[in-house]
Amino acid sequence: MTEVQEKHIVVIGAARSGVAAALLLQKKGADVFVSDYNAIGDEAKQKMEAAGIPFEENGHTEKARKGDFAVVSPGVPTEAPIVQYYLNESKRVYSEIEVASWFTSQDIIAVTGSNGKTTVANWLHHVWNTAKRDHALAGNIGMAFSDEIESNKGDFLLEVSSFQLDHINDFKPAISLILNITPDHLNRYQNSLEAYAAAKFRITENQTADERFIFNYDDPIIQKHVEQLTLKQNAPQLWGFSYEREVPQGAFVRDQHIIFKFNDKEEPLMPVEELGLRGRHNLSNGLATALAARAAEIKNEAIRESLRSFTGVEHRLELAREVEGVKYINDSKATNVNAVWFALDSFNVPVTLILGGRDKGNDYSELEAQIREKVHTIIAIGESKERVEEQLGKTAPNFVKVETMGGAVRAAQRGAKRGEVVLLSPACASFDMFDSYEHRGKIFKDEVDKL
Ligand code: ADP
Repeated sequence: MTEVQEKHIVVIGAARSGVAAALLLQKKGADVFVSDYNAIGDEAKQKMEAAGIPFEENGHTEKARKGDFAVVSPGVPTEAPIVQYYLNESKRVYSEIEVASWFTSQDIIAVTGSNGKTTVANWLHHVWNTAKRDHALAGNIGMAFSDEIESNKGDFLLEVSSFQLDHINDFKPAISLILNITPDHLNRYQNSLEAYAAAKFRITENQTADERFIFNYDDPIIQKHVEQLTLKQNAPQLWGFSYEREVPQGAFVRDQHIIFKFNDKEEPLMPVEELGLRGRHNLSNGLATALAARAAEIKNEAIRESLRSFTGVEHRLELAREVEGVKYINDSKATNVNAVWFALDSFNVPVTLILGGRDKGNDYSELEAQIREKVHTIIAIGESKERVEEQLGKTAPNFVKVETMGGAVRAAQRGAKRGEVVLLSPACASFDMFDSYEHRGKIFKDEVDKL
């Protein structure tokens, strides 16, 4: 742990986690200053004023350079001049999860991956509730980790992004999970999948043989890094999960049944069809959740029950409503192509697909095979609709471009028949037309309600 008493610490970025870190550090005896490149929200200002923490906004002045070390918010890129200043001065730069972890010795269960983090973190939360285990759910979702340090007396269930992992030093989860690694956010990693994967694997960096690392056995990029990890002295215990093959240690599927295997002993857990969520990606998420619960010594009975009774998270393959036998599914959180691939994979009825938005350089052609098999109508919205048309215009029998979400939903209704699915799974960010993916999902649901 880094000593903070009487240290002068600069927190860069006054979003939720930055403010939480500042409040925690001040409580622990540090002298804190907060600096934001942009304007700071009123709520954040009020919190800092109430705690007597000085701050500046709309730019970093000389004061922002005076820290013994800096704490950076996940939104601040490593290339930002202020971060570079600290690094060039050989002063340390830490993330908020690193800072919060200094002040707890309770178990941390940390989930990362390109897709499925929120689903698995919430699924774990549901298991811990079912098992009546004290815990706090924090990180990228809900509360910041720093906000929970003083009040939580149980485990910490954390959703962790690679940006948070970029600046750790001592952060050591009792149980870490990597769900999958697919190209996303590569712009923050010099467009290198290798650098992005290495950032995710930092979650295991301080783990030793007393801790466990749970990973996706079906993911080739993860496999490669796991091989390197096994060469490390005192490596964490490795538990794999797979729906494609049997793993030596961990969880897998045989004859549509989930099986745990530890030290050559098998324990049948439950039939796949009883899982609360549909789709192969959610089978993967369920296996990961089950293993983490098992690693935390939760009884199989409670794991089984909570894998069955979980109903999912809003905006992730969420059933908005059924209208005249057509299911309208809100998957607004599908902000990359891979998530759409898995969304399509989870349906075996004809689909009307609504996609498009702010494009991050997507290769939509990865969806071709799925679309040819399942989708009869593509409805393109948002900034990327021309690009979608160029790449996918001829893959489905019908292709429509629309201007609004209302237009998309009405066009979908015209073409969809009883027993079919209308799926909003955009593969894009939402900021061209909406405030956030939540806002986009809400507007979709509002429009579906009007049908
Ligand atoms: P994250 O928090 O990592 O962004 P979410 O749980 O919010 O992940 O899900 C984001 C999107 O990815 C949703 O569209 C969801 O249906 C899809 N998804 C969830 N789990 C997986 C997975 N294991 N593999 C691929 N896509 C997934």
